[in-house]
Amino acid sequence: MFHLSKFGFQQSCLFFFFLAFLACSNQPPVYADQTSNKVDTISTNNRRVPTNAALDSIYAIDSNKTYIYLTFDDGPQHGTVNCINICRQEGVKASFFMIGLHQHMKSDGKQIVATIRNNYPQTLLANHSYNHAMGKYKYFYQHPQMALADFLKTQDSLAPAPKIIRLPGNNAWVREGKIKASRLVRPVARLLDSAGFNVIGWDMEWNFDHKSARPVQSPEQLAAQVDTLVAHGYTYQPKHLVILTHDRMFHRSPDSLALVQFIQLVKRNPNYVFETVDHYPGLKK
Ligand SMILES: [Zn+2]
Repeated sequence: MFHLSKFGFQQSCLFFFFLAFLACSNQPPVYADQTSNKVDTISTNNRRVPTNAALDSIYAIDSNKTYIYLTFDDGPQHGTVNCINICRQEGVKASFFMIGLHQHMKSDGKQIVATIRNNYPQTLLANHSYNHAMGKYKYFYQHPQMALADFLKTQDSLAPAPKIIRLPGNNAWVREGKIKASRLVRPVARLLDSAGFNVIGWDMEWNFDHKSARPVQSPEQLAAQVDTLVAHGYTYQPKHLVILTHDRMFHRSPDSLALVQFIQLVKRNPNYVFETVDHYPGLKK
């Protein structure tokens, strides 16, 4: 019969814990390249935001890669949680341009916003106005001071870390002091620039049916569109491609699956890197 002396038993326990430690330390990271990108954060009113030092350390861009910025607009909405979960499962980064008012229109709206804010650097929270100009875009852009006040209110309400905006119903850009906008929108873009904001538009859109909110292009068609735009340099900045989608497109299971398929198709190209829009070159920090 086998007997362990007291000393032998302790040795065995230590050896067992040593093996357990080795096993744990060899576990692969949950989200592949995402967890290695952890950055320092500071806490403000229970909100975790990246420090300037942390932002500086993650701004390095590899010129051999092409950066894909997957952006979801108009949340929190039905579909937002699916988008978060899919990006997490696929280990890709994405940016969420959210509407201040929408966080009060869903019982879990504030929680969803907090999840996106706290999951940085995998998900980035950004400003998409307080109420989407209530759909009255011409009036909104004709009143620049009112528009600025709207974005400042949203900044306070959502508390996104960077000063990054997407204009409601408009594909304008403000970067490195250069404004790409229509005559109507230009005064608002200029005012936002002087207030320290970056304005991010998009290079291509995953269109949706405006009655059903379902995606129009198939994942294969959209992935082919990505390849074409990148290959021909049909982007605002070469080797950087911003894709516009909307959270509400993905609240049904078949459409969620389409998002998964699209991400997996893009990931097949080792030169493509999913990033959040705060990495877009030339932004004010
Ligand atoms: Zn929108």
